[in-house]
Amino acid sequence: MSESPEHKAPERSPIHSSPITVTFLGTASAMPSSTRNHSSLAVRLGSDVWLFDCGEGTQHRVQKSGVKMGKIEKVFITHTHGDHIFGLIPLMAGCLNGGGGTADDVEDPRKKINLDEPPFEIYGPLGTRAYVRSALTYTHTLLGRPYVVHELRFPSEPRWGDCTSLPRLRYESRGRNITQVDGVWDVYKDNVISVCAAPIFHSVPCVGYTLTEAQVPSKIDPQKYIPHIKRTKTPLSAMSLLQAGESVTLSDGTVLQGPSPRKGRKLVILGDTYDPSPIIPIAQDPDLLIHEATNAHLPGTVLNTREDDTYESVQRTAMERGHSTPQMAGAFAKRIGALSLALNHFSARYPGDDDVDEEAKTVMDAIGNLAANEFGKPVTCARDLMTIDIGFRAIE
Ligand SMILES: [Zn+2]
Ligand SMILES: [Zn+2]
Repeated sequence: MSESPEHKAPERSPIHSSPITVTFLGTASAMPSSTRNHSSLAVRLGSDVWLFDCGEGTQHRVQKSGVKMGKIEKVFITHTHGDHIFGLIPLMAGCLNGGGGTADDVEDPRKKINLDEPPFEIYGPLGTRAYVRSALTYTHTLLGRPYVVHELRFPSEPRWGDCTSLPRLRYESRGRNITQVDGVWDVYKDNVISVCAAPIFHSVPCVGYTLTEAQVPSKIDPQKYIPHIKRTKTPLSAMSLLQAGESVTLSDGTVLQGPSPRKGRKLVILGDTYDPSPIIPIAQDPDLLIHEATNAHLPGTVLNTREDDTYESVQRTAMERGHSTPQMAGAFAKRIGALSLALNHFSARYPGDDDVDEEAKTVMDAIGNLAANEFGKPVTCARDLMTIDIGFRAIE
């Protein structure tokens, strides 16, 4: 249910001929390091790019990656902790042709805002809209294109209103306030992709997102159909019906059945969490789960491990701060039947240059193994600018 009418999503071209790619733009937790930036990742869907979280410095990381700034359409925020949102305003200024405005809002030649363009879309919990509006207002930032913030409201929060006394900006479109139905937010849907969200436990309101591709046509073997089509002089256009999984009855009564469509790909992208179990009903069976692993117990591998630390004490401390260990991430991946697992949001103690540094590789391999022991499969420890391609599963 929404405060204002649903915007009709534009028709999207199918993306099943290419991989969905995930590029990690930042994999640090609260403190960035020389090798890890604050949280953000980019999902490429065909030619469009959607970001999940946007920590400080995300714009710089985008420029260092193969991700194209101009293709970023939407940003999904998991929670409003600074390490996940501080980069949003500069990114918006970069993507939306922003410039400095004037205090009294007059006589600025750059105030040519194309209000007819579709707005740049931001989704996030309560506070995202007020944060963006305040930052843009007080920095006198002008954007050359409209933007909109849609908020995911928890049941205990107001269902209506912007929850800020600042007026809506001229280039801000009216956003929806999306309320939960049966514990789930239906965030976005078009003909190819749907995004849902559910709460996950952290120290502040926080969500995990699921991104699901609609069913896609199966590969078709023309040899199975063409002889029948030729024999009965059926127009070749019948092939497109078969490709879509439909059945075609030929003039001699033969019925050809196209192959059933395949399940689309699915990603589960979690924000910070010490227990993501509320998302389980919508998180089953993803091709990729992205789960934080802020703290690990690595005696003998990480030299400054405290002598009195045990796995239990590290897990307890991680959970008290709203976070997870690699073992917790691995166990959750197994619980939801994930095909693969990537860890992110690492403490600054764990270096992100494991592709070039042997010591760093030892640490990150150890973290990956802790998760893999629970998951039962190899686990990827994300590093900044790493890309994972998600293709289709082999047909079982
Ligand atoms: Zn964080
Ligand atoms: Zn957090």
